[in-house]
Amino acid sequence: MKLVFASNNKNKIQEIKHQLPDDIELLSLEDIGCTEDIPETADTIEGNAILKADYVTQKYGYDCFADDTGLEVEALNGEPGVYSARYAGEQKDANDNMDKLLLNLEGKSNRNAMFKTVITLNLNGEQHLFTGIVNGVITTNKAGDKGFGYDPIFKPEGLDLTFAQISMDEKAKLSHRGRAVQQLIAFLKK
Ligand code: IMP
Repeated sequence: MKLVFASNNKNKIQEIKHQLPDDIELLSLEDIGCTEDIPETADTIEGNAILKADYVTQKYGYDCFADDTGLEVEALNGEPGVYSARYAGEQKDANDNMDKLLLNLEGKSNRNAMFKTVITLNLNGEQHLFTGIVNGVITTNKAGDKGFGYDPIFKPEGLDLTFAQISMDEKAKLSHRGRAVQQLIAFLKK
């Protein structure tokens, strides 16, 4: 069976490919000739994951799954949420985004936050949603040089290290995306 992952992120594709059953051939957007930017104009994380998966299924006719992720900070009423990638502007710069978040949290004692990933799967004419969440806190300073995005300022619950201070494998086990992917894989193996 051919299944498209609506992404060109090689790390994500590789990570998921390894975990899939052998009878599923995973294709990237590049593999199906989709080179245009898929609109991500919804105002929720779920909405964007659905938009991306539906775009591929409707335009290219493939079964497909798509993911979308956001960081929701309690004291900022869920910001940056669906705008996580471009919180500090369209340049989508991780350092700028972290600086803005640290500034907006200055003097606030509640630093609770959560990462949320939603995966939308379109399979055999049906749509399924899988949600992975990891709770944690936003630190006051950046720490670590691994990972990407907000990793240097996010400490997951139960760990005294940021996501940028642990290995990719450790992060995959407990991260929002890892948890959503685990549900997707379990479903596809059924
Ligand atoms: P995407 O939906 O996976 O493209 O994620 C949207 C944005 O959320 C990214 O550009 C990052 O800023 C942030 N983000 C997503 N996943 C992570 C993560 O695992 N660690 C840190 N930041 C992340």
